[in-house]
Amino acid sequence: MNSNPVISVNEQLNLLKERIREASDLFLGYPVSKDFDYTPLYDFLKYPINNLGDPFEDSTYKVQTHELEKEVIRFFARLFRANPKDYWGYVTNGGSESNLYGLYIARELYPKAMVYYSESTHYSVKKNIHLLNIPAIVIRSQENGEMDYNDLERTLQFNRHKPAIILTTFGTTMKEAKDDVSRIKGILRQLAIQDHYIHCDAALSGSYGAFIEPRAAFDFQDGADSISISGHKFIGSPIPCGVLLTKRSLRDRIAKGVSYIGSLDTTITGSRNGHSVLFLWYALRAMGAEGLKRRYLHSRETAEYCLGELRKLGIEAWMNPGAITVVFPKTPENLKRKYQLATEDTITHIICMPNVTKAHIDAFMEDYKVEMQREPELYLEEMEF
Ligand SMILES: *Cc1c(COP(=O)(O)O)cnc(C)c1O
Repeated sequence: MNSNPVISVNEQLNLLKERIREASDLFLGYPVSKDFDYTPLYDFLKYPINNLGDPFEDSTYKVQTHELEKEVIRFFARLFRANPKDYWGYVTNGGSESNLYGLYIARELYPKAMVYYSESTHYSVKKNIHLLNIPAIVIRSQENGEMDYNDLERTLQFNRHKPAIILTTFGTTMKEAKDDVSRIKGILRQLAIQDHYIHCDAALSGSYGAFIEPRAAFDFQDGADSISISGHKFIGSPIPCGVLLTKRSLRDRIAKGVSYIGSLDTTITGSRNGHSVLFLWYALRAMGAEGLKRRYLHSRETAEYCLGELRKLGIEAWMNPGAITVVFPKTPENLKRKYQLATEDTITHIICMPNVTKAHIDAFMEDYKVEMQREPELYLEEMEF
């Protein structure tokens, strides 16, 4: 804590605000939308809103937003083509908690199962599997980041006497690759592994997955048993949040399993953020499915533009089908720092979130050109990986 008596609290807050504003202005490398305006909701910060308990059950604590939470769940149930009579979910602290929940249901259903996930899976999933103590096998990824289905099939075949939990990713962190849920379902069917569960980690791409053409297989009709998304990524929220959707029938089996705590305790945490529910609900109410689709089309267009501009400079950029993430060889350090570009091994990416415009891309390209002129050898070296 800065206890410098010369700086007042107000001055400290102003400095912090300025630093955050600057940092948030330029970033292109992380999947976070910044184009939200929740001003009409500011008054709600005066109340200790807490959504503890199951949003679909009665609760004695009334300073909550359960009704809105149910609407948020209903919205995504429709978007993810859930059976209207058999869905359930809640708003979580983020995609990681949503993934933990999906894996938790899976393990309760199949305590002797093996979990399969690909090399490109988000880092938080490994920790969740460790927390739940489920034996796991890592499946190879293809060059584009998608699960290697042949490797999955071979590995499943080898362990076909065990129930299988498959953790698929719909929009991997670096390359925004999308695992094909119906193809995986087909492999399970072909190997006659009846005891199986598919959790789809759709943290980034779930919010626009329904609008990708040609359709990508990831939702309940495609074979998923639970789906998770992050609320602060594509939709945008000042507070991190996520959504977990599953089938009510699956949740009921968990609810029985933990009935000694009280049948209402169906969520991972006790106290839950009721404000983030309000933000999510407000955003969805304002945009609707049509608005989400427009956001996606805008992002797609920006990504196509970004791809074209990078290629004009001779940079070997590429994109997965329908993605809003442009992948290209690692950039020099100062560009990486300025635009907060995440890198992994030899690659980096620009994620064209809805707030990113062609002007942002142009500014980046200008800096890139300057960089190329300044250190052509470095640039050429980077190109040759
Ligand atoms: C961001 C992300 C997560 C984690 O979600 P949080 O909301 O940050 O907890 C998990 N999986 C993927 C693929 C992600 O992109």
